[in-house]
Amino acid sequence: MSDPYGIRGWICLEMRGSKIVSRLDEMLTSAMEGSFVESDYNETELSRLESKFRQYLTEKELSAERVRTEREAIKELVTDISHQTKTPIANISLYTQLLEEKTTQELKPYVQQIRQQAQKLEFLIHALTQISRLESGMISLQPRPCQVRELIEKPVSEIRERAKEKQITIALLDEDGQGAATVKACDSKACCDVRWTQEAIGNLLDNAVKYSPRKSRVTIRVDAFEMFVRISVEDEGPGILEEERARIFERFYRGKDALWQEGNGVGLYLTRMILQKERGYIRVLDGGRGGSCFQVYLPVKA
Ligand code: ADP
Repeated sequence: MSDPYGIRGWICLEMRGSKIVSRLDEMLTSAMEGSFVESDYNETELSRLESKFRQYLTEKELSAERVRTEREAIKELVTDISHQTKTPIANISLYTQLLEEKTTQELKPYVQQIRQQAQKLEFLIHALTQISRLESGMISLQPRPCQVRELIEKPVSEIRERAKEKQITIALLDEDGQGAATVKACDSKACCDVRWTQEAIGNLLDNAVKYSPRKSRVTIRVDAFEMFVRISVEDEGPGILEEERARIFERFYRGKDALWQEGNGVGLYLTRMILQKERGYIRVLDGGRGGSCFQVYLPVKA
């Protein structure tokens, strides 16, 4: 014979269980829609659960609000630092230029030092504000199809003057020493944020010129593949030690042999971050003529 009380008890438990599950389902759905309301409190287990759930949602909202407020504060601070330092740095550069013209031969090296330090400060503040903007999500990159030529021309024209001072030639070349294939590949398309990618390529050219000896050559090569476009920047500088290759992309890392040059160790960190944000990447190899070769890969399609 069956036990009618046992079955009834089991049915009761089943019904209670399914009531809890269906209320939990309701609670989660309304929480996701942002409309969760606690029912009137009573001493039941379900009511205690609702109360805890309400508490959890309130804390989650508060912490999301805190993150939003902190992000806004960082945004304002970064914008303030960037704006407020612009004028004093521009003034220092202007006055040192005037001073350089009027000062004695003996004092000139000191004035040049001030000018160089002001330039260094300007670059550092620019790089750190860009990094902070990207890291905090204050700005997002806007990848769009563009011609590879657009990505190269501006940074090349910006570096020409400094390259000229060191009698460094900047050339668009292929493996056979001719530029025709690279020129053709410059017409191909990549999908990236033009302004930020120009900044990334500019950093590589900056380094190539900075670390290369006088009268050397910096070569830019473009290769178009099905999925990626590759832009290579090769120099005849000191190259990069095998054991330092992974570290040079870290923030503030400077190579042991690079300390004789001005720098702050943020250029490659920013460059890699920009490329990662547009689904590209960067790597470094030995250059064919003893120096280093940085290769940037950019996706062809979004
Ligand atoms: P910085 O040049 O200000 O030191 P970067 O982040 O641009 O900072 O570069 C990090 C390090 O990578 C440099 O300190 C240097 O050791 C190495 N490096 C970068 N580019 C080159 C290059 N073209 N030739 C030799 N070493 C380089």
